[in-house]
Amino acid sequence: MVVLGIDIGAAQIKAGMVDDKGAILASRTIATPPDLDTFVPSLHAAIGWLLEATALPAGVGVGCKGIIDPDSTQVERLPGTLHYLQGLRLSDLVGLPVDLPVFADNDARVALAGEMVWGAARGHEDVVMLTLGMGVGGAAVVNGQLLRGHGGVAGNLGHLTVEPDGPPCACGNRGCLETVFSARAIEGEAWSAVHRGCDSTLTRLFRDQPQLATCRTIFQAAREGDELAGAIVSKAIRKLGAAVAGLLHVFDPELLILGGQVADAGADLLVPLREEVWTRSRGLLGRDVALVEQQVADRSGIVGAAGLAMAPRV
Ligand SMILES: [Zn+2]
Repeated sequence: MVVLGIDIGAAQIKAGMVDDKGAILASRTIATPPDLDTFVPSLHAAIGWLLEATALPAGVGVGCKGIIDPDSTQVERLPGTLHYLQGLRLSDLVGLPVDLPVFADNDARVALAGEMVWGAARGHEDVVMLTLGMGVGGAAVVNGQLLRGHGGVAGNLGHLTVEPDGPPCACGNRGCLETVFSARAIEGEAWSAVHRGCDSTLTRLFRDQPQLATCRTIFQAAREGDELAGAIVSKAIRKLGAAVAGLLHVFDPELLILGGQVADAGADLLVPLREEVWTRSRGLLGRDVALVEQQVADRSGIVGAAGLAMAPRV
């Protein structure tokens, strides 16, 4: 069985044919078009190429930013470059030559759908996932079902308030988790310390090679004993740990999956995070909930989207 997975992002659209083992057989990436008149033919051309390269898929899964109604596949809210998709049904835009089932949801839920079919969430009924990238995405599976909520917003765990008077967030709130623990937040902390002239390897590195001013570099400097980097990383992990402990209290999941580029820090993130979470949650939970890394290696979003079509009942 082969399904078509499509990831619609602000900068790129990626589409690929995925087999039942979660392997991408063929894929195409296009720059996200500026308007609908360009979007439709560009997407159709990419899909047409994939159909010629492989075979007709059994179904289609689409992951898209914003608020998506999974029943109708309609894009309910999508600010930014893709605003022209608002009010449209993604199933109408795919344009396959035959009538195939099309499933759609937001990109964070789609990542968890991929984990349910091929990754860490397989065989589990209650799972929470955080995608730690430039922002923080979230999704939850409760009693075997992806949690969507009354208006399709449930699971936006990056917008959990962790600092009532914290920095403004893109969502309109203040002090959301993604304002204190995300690649953007951690890099912002490091830049402001560098501008203050703090004594750190980061100061020299960021001034001489600003292209290396990334979250990965900051975690690496912390591992190598840089005090400033260590303080930034510890503070951010403490706040993430507080949020994760709260999520465990709310969802009582079997496990919590961490994905996204910041989770690439591996043990440097997981070891202190587990300690922080355990300290804060053992009283109520009385057990150690596994914090694990995402297993679906594909970061394009194609495999996750395919997971939605492979197991549509999730
Ligand atoms: Zn927010």
